[in-house]
Amino acid sequence: QLHNTIQDLKGNIRVYARVRPPLKNSDEDDKLQCSISYLDESCLEIRKTRESVSVSGKVVDCKAEFKFDKVFAPESTQSDVFEELAQLVQSALDGYNVCVFAYGQTGSGKTFTMQGGNEPELYGMIPRTIDLLYSTIEQLESSGWKYTVHASFLEIYNENIRDLLDHKSTKTCEVRFNEGKGTTVTNLTIQPMENASDLKHYMTISHRNRAVAATDFNTHSSRSHAVTKIYLEGTQQESQAVFQGSINLVDLAGSESAKTSSNDRLVETKNINKSLSTLGSVMLALYNKDNHVPYRNSKLTYLLQSCLGGNSKTLMFVNISPFEECYIESINSLRFAAKVK
Ligand code: ADP
Ligand code: MG
Repeated sequence: QLHNTIQDLKGNIRVYARVRPPLKNSDEDDKLQCSISYLDESCLEIRKTRESVSVSGKVVDCKAEFKFDKVFAPESTQSDVFEELAQLVQSALDGYNVCVFAYGQTGSGKTFTMQGGNEPELYGMIPRTIDLLYSTIEQLESSGWKYTVHASFLEIYNENIRDLLDHKSTKTCEVRFNEGKGTTVTNLTIQPMENASDLKHYMTISHRNRAVAATDFNTHSSRSHAVTKIYLEGTQQESQAVFQGSINLVDLAGSESAKTSSNDRLVETKNINKSLSTLGSVMLALYNKDNHVPYRNSKLTYLLQSCLGGNSKTLMFVNISPFEECYIESINSLRFAAKVK
């Protein structure tokens, strides 16, 4: 057994639901009122002891109780949530490929969960992963290991891949599958990262670059998938044994069904639906140990082919909005998540 691996009794795919709080002091104040009555009417019910969420509403009556590996109520902090993810950092250092997804409609808290806010207590899963990664590496290096860390940042928009560390370039990035090497992306910048602040610095640059090219950043970011990938290689000094692992952190496009008839939007929506439903099918096929896993049906799953299934661990957050007007989308998200588990 590899060093320090925590025995994983729960299988390699986990699904957590997180219900976000309504916001104070914002233009959401009106909605806040609405969500209180909503919660009072128990349209959205979280049962902590059963790790379940139920939603019901006026138009679609869904009495189902959706169960998860873990449910985070609105009062859960970023640190509470990260506690459930921390051991995956160790797994990646042990040579696993780890994928963490945030799924949900726009405004449900995906980016907050992954990226988080600017104050340390609001840091999301990505900066927390980076900090834990380097502090763990420091410990391991004092006991005879040597690690190298690289990272890449990309987004998939309309089934096209864009390198977020080289956003002005006109080069095309395509997914390739090499026997033995797994999936690679042509022309993608893979940057060496010396330390945690290095990695956070590039994370910030990639985030800025993502916004630069978009005329309407909010719309754009809600319709593209952002993939942060950390590549790890550990060498045991004495035996020269080498372990390669990775951590893929994915802020998915909004899962809402589009309410627009514009042609461009329709194409976008079809692409988003295709990639999200393929992701669902891939996870389901892996869970059922099917022989055929439809990785190649979307860019996102093709890209992540070598990190989903096999020597990998997957965690999906299903982010849920607390608002009444969102309940149909909430039911859709819960159904999607319940399907992959
Ligand atoms: P998405 O990325 O799914 O579109 P965001 O992460 O941007 O959604 O969240 C929408 C708004 O709600 C943001 O202003 C965000 O800061 C806030 N928010 C989301 N989740 C939480 C949370 N758990 N606690 C506090 N604020 C949150
Ligand atoms: Mg977002």
